[in-house]
Amino acid sequence: MKDSFGRAIDYLRLSITDRCNLRCIYCMPPEGVDWMPHNDVIRFEEIIRICRLMAAMGIRKIKITGGEPLVRRGAAYLVRSVKALPGIEKVTMTTNGVLLGEYIDALIDAGLDSVNISLDSISEDNFNRITRKENLAQILSAINRTCDLGLPIKINCVPLKGVNEGDIAKLAVLAKNGNMAVRFIELMPLGAAAALRPIPVDEVMSLLEKEYGSLSPAAVKPGNGPAAYYTLPGFKGYIGFISALSHGFCESCNRLRLTAAGFLKPCLSSDMYLDLRALLRGGVSDSEIEKAIAELVSRKPACHSFGGVQGRLNHSQKEMFRIGG
Ligand code: SAM
Ligand code: SF4
Repeated sequence: MKDSFGRAIDYLRLSITDRCNLRCIYCMPPEGVDWMPHNDVIRFEEIIRICRLMAAMGIRKIKITGGEPLVRRGAAYLVRSVKALPGIEKVTMTTNGVLLGEYIDALIDAGLDSVNISLDSISEDNFNRITRKENLAQILSAINRTCDLGLPIKINCVPLKGVNEGDIAKLAVLAKNGNMAVRFIELMPLGAAAALRPIPVDEVMSLLEKEYGSLSPAAVKPGNGPAAYYTLPGFKGYIGFISALSHGFCESCNRLRLTAAGFLKPCLSSDMYLDLRALLRGGVSDSEIEKAIAELVSRKPACHSFGGVQGRLNHSQKEMFRIGG
């Protein structure tokens, strides 16, 4: 499946819930939000049908996300079901890690290929301040266990000015001692994040170099997404940087996003979406759905519009916990 700019679209991010057991300051308000009514959330059988059609159209990789995907019962069943679809090569997950220890065996058994774990601090006070909860020990233990079980891990941290500068070098230690990538992701000005300031990539790099020596571009990339990977002297794992705003990567964007409401979005920043839930529940045929998806793909924008529409980014379908990051 190619869009009108010739980009091959082979990656689908699936948000399976808007609910979460953390309240990260850049993602959700402290009191949480009004969760979507149960019946509005896309059902597993609907997701599997969408994935089957999209796999036939060229989707090869699926990332399961949320909200927090592991708060939805049956997440491992979904992994198994989409992994079994003809054409699907990789199924991965992005999680905050709170429930990972509980489900890791079932997820590996279901065929999960790798896991991204979001972690913005490994100091307890700061972790509690950022997530407004107290689950650090649980997450660190799940990371150790996942590593021992041999599932590839990427740790994702969002560097925030005045919040976690002091945590950056400490988080990188995970890539020093373990065969995993620690990635620093530029804050995007969506929802709650609009009131916070990112730490520029150059500043994150110099914090790391001050502590560990020179960063060198990695000869082999441990992932095929938009991250730029580096190595540090004596490190087993990798350091990655994802900076959608300052170092745009739209020209190689290969992804679509399905929100927990069943809206298919061609771009994180765009208002445009296809209401697949309505089509599925309206009894529309597979070929009509494929036609609608192909039409949406043909309208995928050349580039995100974060530079121009920040004032409008509070729309409820533009919050990260609904879209899935
Ligand atoms: N709850 C899971 C987690 O935290 O990994 C999955 C959903 S979360 C929305 C997916 C990713 O989006 C996380 O790595 C999180 O740090 C990131 N994220 C959330 N809001 C963000 C923002 N405003 N800018 C950049 N990344 C953000
Ligand atoms: Fe929850 Fe993930 Fe958002 Fe944090 S970033 S509040 S863990 S959905």
